[in-house]
Amino acid sequence: EMKVAGRGGWRRYTAAMSERAATLRNIEQSLRDAMMHEALSLHYQPMVDARSGRLVGAEALLRWQVNGHDVYVPDQFIPVAEDSGLIAELGEWVLRQACLQSRLWRQRHRVIPISVNVSPLQFRQEHFYPQLDALMTACGIGPGHLELELTERTMMAGGETTTRLLQRIRQRGVRLSLDDFGTGYCSLSYLKHFPVDTLKIDRSFVHDIVTDADTAAITRAVIAMARSLGKTVIAEGVETATQADFLREAGCTSLQGFYYGTPMPAAELERWLAASAA
Ligand code: C2E
Ligand code: MG
Ligand code: MG
Ligand code: MG
Repeated sequence: EMKVAGRGGWRRYTAAMSERAATLRNIEQSLRDAMMHEALSLHYQPMVDARSGRLVGAEALLRWQVNGHDVYVPDQFIPVAEDSGLIAELGEWVLRQACLQSRLWRQRHRVIPISVNVSPLQFRQEHFYPQLDALMTACGIGPGHLELELTERTMMAGGETTTRLLQRIRQRGVRLSLDDFGTGYCSLSYLKHFPVDTLKIDRSFVHDIVTDADTAAITRAVIAMARSLGKTVIAEGVETATQADFLREAGCTSLQGFYYGTPMPAAELERWLAASAA
């Protein structure tokens, strides 16, 4: 009897597995279509100076939408793109769009530094640097125009090779930001080895700073330490004035979150900029 029950359980298990695999294949196929049929776009979320509230940059965030509605959100389709290898193509497309947008804004006398998320697999591609370099040349990207956001996972893999690549990117005039800081396994002592300009405090910390004393203490310490290492600190996921006040007083350089602005199409960011200047 046990055996039969066991087999049935196994059958249910494999059915669930292949259902999941089929879902992933569906997303993958739809993503290929979306890439060809312009369902993908970049939205830009303002990053502001913690003291003056002025725009210091914008994070490019990928959107997959039809008629203004999300088909899938990045946390759903980025992993699929990584598993299927599509991320190389997708990542290059994102970088190209961001560089083109940067050029467009500069042509209109707006210098808005753009931050682009780079996935681990994309970063490990051999042609990543040559591609970046070529795009920058083609779009006239200079120092202060572009920043790459990488996670601890990306930076810790690959040892010396990764460190050299990071240094090379920085020498090319691209700023580097350590995204989602605090969610990985990066010990604080690692920080001094990573050639990054900016530390981006994960929104899970920001979410709890005003309600949880331990989170508040940790966040304060991390900001102080990063600042003493000469790094810029930005907090993501700022949703309230109370959070903003806390982070500003703790020494955060810049802030980003729904409190200041949601991710929006490029044209909307220009209107946001005009409205905030007025
Ligand atoms: P991330 O790089 O940490 O981006 C921040 C995420 O937090 C974005 O989600 C953003 O919309 C959201 N967010 C911003 N402000 C707030 C806030 O005040 N409250 C809350 N609750 N959320 C806020 P999104 O756009 O869904 O992207 C999720 C993740 O997907 C990103 O996390 C990033 O890891 C990845 N991603 C997005 N675009 C790209 C891309 O072009 N390339 C790669 N490789 N990954 C991307
Ligand atoms: Mg990011
Ligand atoms: Mg982040
Ligand atoms: Mg995140």
